[in-house]
Amino acid sequence: MHLENLTDVKVKLTPKGKGIFAGRNFCKGETVVVGRRVMILPERTNHSFQFDFDLHIELDEPARLINHSCDPNTGVRNNKFGAYDFVALVDILEGHEITWDYETTEYVSIAIPKCGCESPNCRLKTRGFKFLPVDIKKKYGPFIADYLKNPGSSTNEDFHEFVNFSGDRYSPTILQ
Ligand SMILES: [Zn+2]
Repeated sequence: MHLENLTDVKVKLTPKGKGIFAGRNFCKGETVVVGRRVMILPERTNHSFQFDFDLHIELDEPARLINHSCDPNTGVRNNKFGAYDFVALVDILEGHEITWDYETTEYVSIAIPKCGCESPNCRLKTRGFKFLPVDIKKKYGPFIADYLKNPGSSTNEDFHEFVNFSGDRYSPTILQ
């Protein structure tokens, strides 16, 4: 874990496993956690983040421990570390759990069979950005993975390969 993050956020145990909590108040627009790429993975895992149509990466802590919510308080922004910053979408009070929406980085096959985020607008299960209703996509504005902003801008071959991937081997969990 990087030092500058230690004072800003804290790791705590939740009923869902480890989670990341605000160690101070954050204003909307502030970067809450800076993620750094530590590894490129051969395929999606429970802890991976999708960075391009054919690229799954692992981030360092605390970024990798941030739990999903269908109504998250942070959004992602590509950063210079080949990873994502988690930016406050609203004012966040000290002590509140930091969350992000899996579907803002994962294109398909991210089925969380039963979401436990408990937000009033919980989508119950998540399947990826591709399947998100337009109004939810719009809600995040620029705070989604860059590669999702221009589908097809990546190499088309990779794109089609990825779309055809069934994802059956992936048994995701929202636990961290
Ligand atoms: Zn949910």
